[in-house]
Amino acid sequence: MPFDPFMVKPEEFASAANIPEFPLENPTRRTSMQTLWDHRYAQRTQRMKGSAIRELLKLTEQPDVISFAGGLPAPEVFPIEEFTAACLRVLRENGGMALQYGSTEGYLPLREMIARHTSRYGIRVSADNILITAGSQQALDLIGKVFINRGDRILVESPTYLGALQAWNAYGAEYITVRTDDEGMVTEELEDALRAGPKFIYVLPNFQNPMGVTMSTQRRRQLVELASRYGVPIIEDDPYGQLRYEGEHLPSVVVMDAKIHGQNDRNGYYSGNVIYLSTFSKILAPGLRLGWVIGPTEVIRKLVLAKQGADLHTATFNQVVAYEVGHGGFLDRHVLKIREVYRERRDAMLAALEKYMPEGVRWTRPQGGLFLWVTLPEGMNTTELFTEAVENKVAYVPGEPFHPCGGGENTMRLNFSYSKPEVIEEGIRRLSQVIKAHLK
Ligand code: PMP
Repeated sequence: MPFDPFMVKPEEFASAANIPEFPLENPTRRTSMQTLWDHRYAQRTQRMKGSAIRELLKLTEQPDVISFAGGLPAPEVFPIEEFTAACLRVLRENGGMALQYGSTEGYLPLREMIARHTSRYGIRVSADNILITAGSQQALDLIGKVFINRGDRILVESPTYLGALQAWNAYGAEYITVRTDDEGMVTEELEDALRAGPKFIYVLPNFQNPMGVTMSTQRRRQLVELASRYGVPIIEDDPYGQLRYEGEHLPSVVVMDAKIHGQNDRNGYYSGNVIYLSTFSKILAPGLRLGWVIGPTEVIRKLVLAKQGADLHTATFNQVVAYEVGHGGFLDRHVLKIREVYRERRDAMLAALEKYMPEGVRWTRPQGGLFLWVTLPEGMNTTELFTEAVENKVAYVPGEPFHPCGGGENTMRLNFSYSKPEVIEEGIRRLSQVIKAHLK
């Protein structure tokens, strides 16, 4: 009988497979060499440094550590019932399609749902303006692949989202930074940075990761005007925009841009200067790995080509289930519920900081999102403090790596969405003890 791996037991595989002995009867003249992998990696791979942060964060996985380090949503708000029902419905009614390959652009009803949602905000977007990605993180990577040549300079806030830097470092990006204060990117300093000729501007206007700050309307306008004047595109990364706990919704940069550039493609849809990213990670579930890009159709077409080489398309099943769960108004109701839970947790963290932190420690007061940003007195170093914090059973992310051109040694990012209010209070109490012990 011919050999068939499925017909033998695993322990009998080697003998049954008749794998030839080495050395072969007719060995080539070269003796075998162990591959020196280091010499084989591409230049870009040399730039992929495992971050010290990731190593530090492994320490926080001990169960008794209260971790404010990750950016995790609260699992209590995942709509598990709705997902269970939707999975069954999809498999029973549409299983053949949901388990099949799909288009690179993404599941059309899902793109149409996103287009309808976006159109609420005063900008005409069609499904052709939208690409579904495996989370926003993939969108950042595809943007790197499509736009960044080695040595290109990207204009970013300082601090900015670490995952974007990680994605773009691999493509050889360099950075020009603009300071960020309590009203977001300091656009008064933007023009000088634009003169240095960046490839694009990367900005997080709502409840920025890591600082939690929100860009004022005035600054958004200034950003859009300056970018337009200098002909530099904007990447607007907005995973948290819907998670606002107080204050009024501010217009997205892409919406403001549509006012300047009009909706001037042939069909009257958006074709301006902004590529907008968002995700289902924070409003539904990050395990879905579903995000989306909105942009001019010509840019979407290039991103589609880049994505084809990466993964052909985003998981069909996840897209169909997300649509099934999300359409018909559920997502809107669900976002309201998440806001309630996270508002309470943010308030718990702010109250605990007020209660326990010593004089000289400052923090941001986010109106939404998942993070706030703590600044210790000058001269303190949160990376050095980290090990001691973990010994004291509390963790955070040190602020320095969020600054691509250095700085921020005395800062840290705290997440408030994951832990329950009473746990947050205890964690902040522990953190304050570590800080007090090191105050000069
Ligand atoms: N951008 C920002 C600013 C983020 O904070 C995150 C996740 N923390 C992402 C992108 C990536 O999100 P995802 O891939 O889960 O959509």
